[in-house]
Amino acid sequence: MGLFNKKKNYIRINPNRDGSPTSKPSVPDNMWAKCPNCKRTLYKKEMGEEKVCPHCGYSFRISAWERLAITIDEKSLEEWDNQLPVRNPIDFPDYEAKLQRMKEKTGLDEAVLTGKAMIEGREVAIGVMDTNFIMGSMGTVVGEKITRLFEKATKAHLPVMLFTASGGARMQEGIFSLMQMAKISAAVQRHNQAGQLYITVLTDPTTGGVTASFAMEGDIILAEPQTLVGFAGRRVIEQTIRQKLPEDFQKAEFLLEHGFIDQIVPRLELRTRLVELLDLHQTKGWCDE
Ligand SMILES: [Zn+2]
Repeated sequence: MGLFNKKKNYIRINPNRDGSPTSKPSVPDNMWAKCPNCKRTLYKKEMGEEKVCPHCGYSFRISAWERLAITIDEKSLEEWDNQLPVRNPIDFPDYEAKLQRMKEKTGLDEAVLTGKAMIEGREVAIGVMDTNFIMGSMGTVVGEKITRLFEKATKAHLPVMLFTASGGARMQEGIFSLMQMAKISAAVQRHNQAGQLYITVLTDPTTGGVTASFAMEGDIILAEPQTLVGFAGRRVIEQTIRQKLPEDFQKAEFLLEHGFIDQIVPRLELRTRLVELLDLHQTKGWCDE
């Protein structure tokens, strides 16, 4: 008993001096994070806005809003198609309520945010997927928003920059979810035929139908270090082919080695690399001058 009492007193060593009831957590839970790569405990502020482990360079998953904050010029976003009607095409139970909860949680209308923005003064059509919204899964609204992103970019002669992050097709929308792959791919093709640039940045994790369509259709495919990129999961493949897969299978580094992606770019260098690529491809604005 003595031991427990002692512990109780210890917690009270730093009491809230003005007596208000807000003193409860002396160290808020959200100040620390564990790096899944090097396993070190990190003080979150050390990771900076980019959320990169200062010890090993691991890039933590970030939200679409956080991605925009470190990528585009401040206040340059003109969001597109964020009011598309919600549908429940296969009458999946409680789907509308789930979508509503997700909207409130993420501040997004769906698992992708699209629009027009500036990067170091260069105009781009940008799409950012967010795994906090039903695992970044691709339903009809996500498919429609990305299709419109390409269509508008083609019309406005803008390059498309798409940050992918997805668990794949959206189970709650069944076959309608799978249809989006072909629809988006057709829009990508038209953008390509118009001679416009499309850059994809694969971020952790990019899987399923997203990998099987627009994620791998970029003219230039970049990835953040150690990003998981795949179609089916490791266990599914191992059980199907009855073989053990290499340890780094489905990591960006493995894909780079096998020619599926063009370059792995650490998050801290990404913005600079994107600007270089935009300039290299003489985007609108640059060639008009
Ligand atoms: Zn680390």
